[in-house]
Amino acid sequence: MNHKRSGEIFEEAKKYIPGGVNSPVRAFRSVGLDPIFIERAEGSRIYDVDGNSYIDYICSWGPLILGHSNKDVLEGIEEAIARGTSYGVPSPVEVEVAKMITEALISVDMVRMVNSGTEATMSAIRLARAYTGRSKIIKFEGCYHGHSDSLLVKAGSGAITFGVPTSPGVPEDTTRHTIICTYNDLESVKRVFEKEGKDIACIIVEPVAGNMGVVAPKEGFLEGLRSICDEYGSVLIFDEVITGFRLSYGGAQEVYNIKPDITCLGKIIGGGLPVGAYGGKREIMELVSPVGPVYQAGTLSGNPLAMTIGYRNLKILKDNREIYIELENKAKRLEEGINNIIKELNIDAHVSRVKGMFCLFLGKGPFENYNDVMKCDTEKYSAFFREMLERGILIPPSQFEAWFLSAEHSDEDIEETLKACREALKVALK
Ligand code: PLP
Repeated sequence: MNHKRSGEIFEEAKKYIPGGVNSPVRAFRSVGLDPIFIERAEGSRIYDVDGNSYIDYICSWGPLILGHSNKDVLEGIEEAIARGTSYGVPSPVEVEVAKMITEALISVDMVRMVNSGTEATMSAIRLARAYTGRSKIIKFEGCYHGHSDSLLVKAGSGAITFGVPTSPGVPEDTTRHTIICTYNDLESVKRVFEKEGKDIACIIVEPVAGNMGVVAPKEGFLEGLRSICDEYGSVLIFDEVITGFRLSYGGAQEVYNIKPDITCLGKIIGGGLPVGAYGGKREIMELVSPVGPVYQAGTLSGNPLAMTIGYRNLKILKDNREIYIELENKAKRLEEGINNIIKELNIDAHVSRVKGMFCLFLGKGPFENYNDVMKCDTEKYSAFFREMLERGILIPPSQFEAWFLSAEHSDEDIEETLKACREALKVALK
């Protein structure tokens, strides 16, 4: 496959953009390649500037449940643009989207729009702190909640319970309030609460982890977090930036029937435009400015164009719930097909799947937390990625990301993917 033009653009990009990309994972560094630059995308396919076509399992990291350039979502978009791209004062479509979100999510009475998942989680934590009058927060190792300072944290070593920054520029003073626990290990959470419960404002969790590959919550884990928060008067935040409107229309909270106090949403509700949101119980949300004292704002929040696309996207999902069954069936077919290949080649690999969300771990399970997934062979994953790309299949350029399917992925796409998988795994794991 020829990537000459992508290579040329990348050289140019590096002169003006750090690393040539606007988000680090796009640089393809972890798989030892230069990035491909994209010209257009349609349905399940994405096309690079060298004319190569790929079946896309990145799908913009989740939002494109209806596939690229969906005609029903985009219909009339010119007319929406012609009405103006941003007003700085409210527009009716913001209300429509807010209403749709509150109707979809069992725990959300009110919602505030922001522009990204990062903003959603950052604002949700500020709100939880204000609501409880406490400072400490709990996050889980391997869960990603965007790049605000207090969340760029990993577990400290040994006796220290608070996290340490994962990036220069994040003051230790900020991360001092962030405590890291082990995903799926309720005991690790209980121990922290026994010692510091009265100071803990919130637990933030991805109800199904999607940023260390896909890791399902063990039975009782999410329920346990709910009851610990109830016992200690802390706020439970579900970060549903990936699971919201993807795992099912009502998100992970519908699937597991657990009501968090605050829910964070992101890219999916914008159908590919920059959007995020946080919402929850009325009593908590009414603390947000201008009703309450908790400041949070955004010039482009509730942007009319993003809201118009977001509304169309959500409306189609709402009216066509069979899409979720189809997504799950496609993920199951990939799971079964890859499992057969794993058996046939007798390799250490495991498909981790929750409904339509899945990934392929190249290693020996079980995969229940961050330490487990870290044992995967990232070198082999890199080789696998390269072999898949060469065969026209674009999977996430990291072992620790979920593969994303859309309603547009056809039976033929899945057959082609499985054929490529067999060949690529043979080469990569030889
Ligand atoms: N939360 C989760 C679960 C995510 O997966 C992401 C991004 O992938 C974020 C938050 C941050 O969202 P954004 O990249 O829109 O800031």
